[in-house]
Amino acid sequence: PELSFDAYHGIPRSERHRRALRMAILTREPENYSTRKLIAAAEMRGHSMEVIDTSRCYMNIHSVGGEVHYDGRRLPHYDAVIPRIGASITSYGTAVVRQFESIGTYCLSGSEGITMSRDKLHAHQVLARVQIGMPTTAFARSPKDSANVISLVGGAPLVLKLLESTQGKGVVLAETKKAAESVISAFQGLRADFLVQSFVKEAAGEDIRCFVVGGKVVAAMRRRGKPDDFRSNLHQGGTAEPVRISRQERETAIRAARTMKLDVAGVDLLRGEDGPKVLEVNSSPGLEGIERTSGKDIAGLVIAHIEAKVAPKPSRARAK
Ligand code: ADP
Repeated sequence: PELSFDAYHGIPRSERHRRALRMAILTREPENYSTRKLIAAAEMRGHSMEVIDTSRCYMNIHSVGGEVHYDGRRLPHYDAVIPRIGASITSYGTAVVRQFESIGTYCLSGSEGITMSRDKLHAHQVLARVQIGMPTTAFARSPKDSANVISLVGGAPLVLKLLESTQGKGVVLAETKKAAESVISAFQGLRADFLVQSFVKEAAGEDIRCFVVGGKVVAAMRRRGKPDDFRSNLHQGGTAEPVRISRQERETAIRAARTMKLDVAGVDLLRGEDGPKVLEVNSSPGLEGIERTSGKDIAGLVIAHIEAKVAPKPSRARAK
């Protein structure tokens, strides 16, 4: 479509993309900040962005080439899809993403990356394999093992995490071995899978969120929870501020995102005595906190990354 100059507000001529892209965002939250910002950033650059409710997509996985249907029609071919799949529908959501992948659509976060990042155990194993720093972590299921598991991470104090925990809600600090044992037996009574992790005391209730786009940390913030809470990422009552990160932290975040096969990721790490310790790599990191604290147009950087991926500008030499 032809665009008025105003539609390109703020984007220098040399940065503008040559081809209008057709994009879709997979989300069940059309009104949330991140969704709105990504749509605005795409439109400002002359692209179209459709909002698709992941849970209403249906697919014929036998059809040649694979198709995704929605509301009684076949979805058109998109140049790019931005999956923002909620934790409660990870499995169905990644199936939809896989379907788009099978027809050659660029997905900002691939199904493999989303799947890995949602499974804490899998994520820790993959990150450990490439020597990315993390708190000492153990995992067990059988009730007989609890004492051994506790000693495996160096004893109390330690942190217990339900595997399906998000936003710190299933994360408990056990200050003594006795406390750890009773929490473990409670989790086991619920037949819930959990991780046992050494407590990184020196992080002092703060964590660092590094926002990675296309192999670069484009912004970072330090988060702190309510006073006296060791969890820094609880949504209520926490604070966040911009932070300068060290070169080692930067490299760790970039490597963690790459290992998890995510072009865009929110890498959460703790500042440990002996370097950064990665807690989690988030495949659909929220934009609100990081844009507010950094003052940067992160959504715009994400769209620019998609442009570079799906329709790279010809190099100057070749353009001549
Ligand atoms: P969730 O995935 O539920 O958000 P996290 O693993 O991110 O759980 O933990 C929530 C918060 O708890 C983190 O942001 C961090 O502040 C704190 N935390 C988690 N693990 C540790 C640990 N091993 N040592 C110290 N603090 C921790």
